[in-house]
Amino acid sequence: MPKLLLIQPSQYEPDGHRLCKRKYMYLPGLALPLLAAMVPDHWEVRIINEIIEDVDLDEECDLVGIGTMGYSVKRAVVLAQEFKKRNKTVFLGGMVAPYIPIQQLKYVDSIVVGAGDISLPILLKDFEESGTIKARYDNPVSNLDQIPVPRYDLFPKGKIKFMLPVQSTRGCPNRCIFCSTSTIYNGKYQIRPIDDVIRDIREVKRLGYSRFFMLDDNVNGDHENLRKLAGAIKNEKVIWSAQSTINIAKRDDLMKSLLEAGCKILSIGLENINQNVLNELNKSWVKADSSSQQIRKLQKFGFVLFTSFIIGTDHDTEQSLKKTVEFIMRNRLAIPLLNILTPIPGTKLYDQIKTENRLNTSDIEKYTGFNTVHEPRLISSKKLDKLIWSMYEEIYSVKNILKRNLLSPSVMANPVSTIFALYVNFQYRKSIKKRIGPLII
Ligand code: SF4
Repeated sequence: MPKLLLIQPSQYEPDGHRLCKRKYMYLPGLALPLLAAMVPDHWEVRIINEIIEDVDLDEECDLVGIGTMGYSVKRAVVLAQEFKKRNKTVFLGGMVAPYIPIQQLKYVDSIVVGAGDISLPILLKDFEESGTIKARYDNPVSNLDQIPVPRYDLFPKGKIKFMLPVQSTRGCPNRCIFCSTSTIYNGKYQIRPIDDVIRDIREVKRLGYSRFFMLDDNVNGDHENLRKLAGAIKNEKVIWSAQSTINIAKRDDLMKSLLEAGCKILSIGLENINQNVLNELNKSWVKADSSSQQIRKLQKFGFVLFTSFIIGTDHDTEQSLKKTVEFIMRNRLAIPLLNILTPIPGTKLYDQIKTENRLNTSDIEKYTGFNTVHEPRLISSKKLDKLIWSMYEEIYSVKNILKRNLLSPSVMANPVSTIFALYVNFQYRKSIKKRIGPLII
């Protein structure tokens, strides 16, 4: 029986040698179990998330697929090199794969771009028929009607705590110029049949989990679908979290449906406190002057909020970044994330900054959101590289973690999620101390 290894690499710590490791994960990705579900029965498949498991470079296998995310590109290339030395056939997938410099790609046989779950069965068939694979596979998703149940059962036993990932839509109807989802899906919003989503949630429950996170880029892209989806999930008696736009706060009916369906945590991209920035990022529908009011409304409904901000835009100054920290503290944001504006190749933002000759590096390994890879207009890239960590230190001081979480209007309505948020905060605090972007939980 031929064997396929699917690997999500970890990232190197800032010393460049040690790998980031965790004993457990709380928010594993969906890519590996979903890809594994597309593998025909006559193949053996194993998934390895390197954050919680070690990769055995000498493991018997025929094919190795390695995922690339911004933070793990360096490790992905090292793993590819090692497996090639051992005469394995290696392919790379994931968002960053097409932008890896050509000299590093000599360690791989193929790059998979677009929808990996569509390309993988084609790639496996090619390998079976000819013993080789094509240099590139690029297939879009035409519809989401035939997606099998993800192979959650392949996650290592006991290593994933609390939650598994589920997906109900792909893409987003909005077109923020910095967003790779907007580039990949070009404003399309694809919706899975609700029965299939419920089937996946039942599999999550069957495996002993009472929680899941809906990792759609924007669960709020189609109000009618969200209303029906929440209605169907309500009967499953599960707790879940989702990513949405802030505009969900304009719809009391949808917020109520989500809460009744068990959705307790929302992740929202606020991006910036300056309306000019939002306009320039093509996110003018987020209104900076009503953000605080909308946040308060969501918190009063009982949602615990993950919120993300982009810093290092052309309007940011030391003063505006200070105000960003004040905004986070004043609004008692439970789990705030800061990212440096990163012109991801393929996005409109990238074209803009490249045309203006403001890219400092094309080294894709630096495009993590925690390095300044371009020159902002009002603050130097060097200064911003330092400031992001001092902002994080301030926001994630013990005093401020407690203040943001325990004084939030959501605390009484949602005490269990507040405890989870506190746990996440202290995990992130540890990462921040080591200067590792607070992403892994
Ligand atoms: S709303 Fe979010 S997911 Fe949609 S394009 Fe903007 S940043 Fe991307």
